[in-house]
Amino acid sequence: MVLIDYELKKRVMDAHIHDTLKYCYQCNRCTDVCPVADIAPNRYNPRNVILNSFLGFKGNILGVEDNFNLWGCTMCDTCDEVCPQKIELTEIFIVLKNMAIKRNEGPDYYTTQASAIYDNGKAIPPQPAIERRREQMGLPKIEPPSIDEVQKILKQTKLNTIINKE
Ligand code: SF4
Ligand code: SF4
Repeated sequence: MVLIDYELKKRVMDAHIHDTLKYCYQCNRCTDVCPVADIAPNRYNPRNVILNSFLGFKGNILGVEDNFNLWGCTMCDTCDEVCPQKIELTEIFIVLKNMAIKRNEGPDYYTTQASAIYDNGKAIPPQPAIERRREQMGLPKIEPPSIDEVQKILKQTKLNTIINKE
């Protein structure tokens, strides 16, 4: 039996969507257009995530064996554009992903990428090979980011505590 988690329901409802979620009539358009559901129909289904969010069935969303059920979403926004009820699915997915991160259930590639941004101020650190190639092509040098500024912002969001940085 799946228990109803009212806190999850409230968090989702409060996330800029108020009560629009309850008007999801499970038409499946979101899943029909989703490129991820198209290639991995057995692992990812946005309509299901929305249904479980609306019902507060936390156990069907978080703490499941295959977290692709949530992290498979690439946030491409295609579903948002076609939902006849104007439900902002990706807003809901952000809330759920943040909850998953707090429970330490985020995929490793997310925290690895976040660490790279924290350490280097950008997702892809400067690489001599890229610099050489740019020079050969007559492209200007890439200005290095202000790592201090980036870290200041990330500390404000408390991301540093999630990726175990000072
Ligand atoms: S497209 Fe909108 S109304 Fe239809 S199932 Fe998806 S979220 Fe619900
Ligand atoms: S935002 Fe996520 S759920 Fe929506 S279509 Fe893109 S990948 Fe699918």
